[in-house]
Amino acid sequence: MFTKGSKVYSMLTGVCPKCHQESMYVTKNPYILSDTLKMHEKCSHCDTKYRIEPSFFYGAMYVSYAVGIAFAVAAFVISYLFIGTGLVTAFIAIVCTLIVFTPVIMRLARNIWINMFMSYDKNLVKK
Ligand SMILES: [Zn+2]
Repeated sequence: MFTKGSKVYSMLTGVCPKCHQESMYVTKNPYILSDTLKMHEKCSHCDTKYRIEPSFFYGAMYVSYAVGIAFAVAAFVISYLFIGTGLVTAFIAIVCTLIVFTPVIMRLARNIWINMFMSYDKNLVKK
C-alpha cells in the first residue's frame, strides 16, 4: 500500500504523481520556508506538467483544510485522551501543532490534490 506505484506513496513523499521517480519540489525539506511551495515546472523523467492549468493549486486549499482538521484531531486525542491534559492545554496543543506542521500540511494538501487528477502510469517509468 505504501510502496512505489500507490497513490499513498506519492501523497506522502511528494514524488511525481505519474512516474514516482522524482520529487515535485525543488527542496526536499518543507521547513525551508522560502522554498516550501517551490515546485519544478514539469517532471524531468516523464515530462508531466504539475500545474495543469493556471492557479491549479488553489484547490489544494480545500484539501489543506481537511488535512489541518486531521492534525488538530490527532493533537487533541494525544494531549487530552492519552496524556490527560485539561481542555485549555489541549487547545494550546492544537494551535501549536497547526503552527509547527503548517509546511507539512501545505505540501500534503498539494500532493493529495494533484493525485486526485493524475495516476501512476508504469509505462512512463521505463523511459
Ligand atoms: Zn514523472
